[in-house]
Amino acid sequence: MKVLVNESILDKEAVKIDFEDRGYQFGDGVYEVINIYNGVPFTFNEHIERLYRSAQEIGMSIPYSPEKLKENLMSLLDANNVIQGGLYLQITRGTAPRTHHYDEAIESKLIAYPLPHKDVLAPQTNGVTAITEEDLRWLRCDIKSLNLLYNIMSKQKAAKAGAFETILIREEIVTEGTSSNIFIVKDGMVKTHPANNKILNGITRMKLLQIVDQHAWEYQLEPFTKSELLEADEVFLTSTTSEIMPIIKVDDVVFHDGIPGPMTQKLQSAFREAVEKDIQS
Ligand code: PLP
Repeated sequence: MKVLVNESILDKEAVKIDFEDRGYQFGDGVYEVINIYNGVPFTFNEHIERLYRSAQEIGMSIPYSPEKLKENLMSLLDANNVIQGGLYLQITRGTAPRTHHYDEAIESKLIAYPLPHKDVLAPQTNGVTAITEEDLRWLRCDIKSLNLLYNIMSKQKAAKAGAFETILIREEIVTEGTSSNIFIVKDGMVKTHPANNKILNGITRMKLLQIVDQHAWEYQLEPFTKSELLEADEVFLTSTTSEIMPIIKVDDVVFHDGIPGPMTQKLQSAFREAVEKDIQS
């Protein structure tokens, strides 16, 4: 496997991570995961823009332009012959003797490499289950930071319970999943949490909202409660790797007799069409 390290493409075996890298010691960095369809990075600009925004929000500069980064990432995809799969990229603040505060002059470190294709057709067709858990994360969930401790702790609970995702609840309000955004459908109305500091503004979420808007389907960007979640007609999650994933059960509550609902299926087809269109243009 070839890995992009700052601006160089190296064999995986040649990549060295310093134990004083602040990403390693503090989780001091930001990241992105991008889907590759037919060799084309889907919603590439949106992901790169979000990366630069996350970096800016933590006071970290990236020493090259988004255009240069995209060029380097395309060379990485070529070097690995990626047709279907993903791209992981992270930027840490860089290496320095361990102190909490940092010298603004230290050089950030970028690592990017391809992720294997994840086949999600069966769960997308049949739906998945989820559990709920209190959202105890910090209040800058809008930053896609490497600090994922509470997310992984909560996801592990889902894994242990045999569920696909944990839905996080802050003061009775459904915020998002540990690695996804959560939507409900009630009486034809699509609803999801507004984009603010309590959620990551998912690229798939934004793409789906554009599609919903284009079709003039009804939607609301409003906080909704756990009770509304459990009384919904349909529930689904969105993320880069899961795309649009129907949730057929949350805790002990089953939706739409345990099969993906009609609105979710309509959104899945519209999303697929949008992907096809985007990767051809
Ligand atoms: N929310 C969180 C906490 C996430 O980690 C992710 C993705 O990893 C998402 C939402 C979905 O974002 P995207 O659609 O950009 O993958």
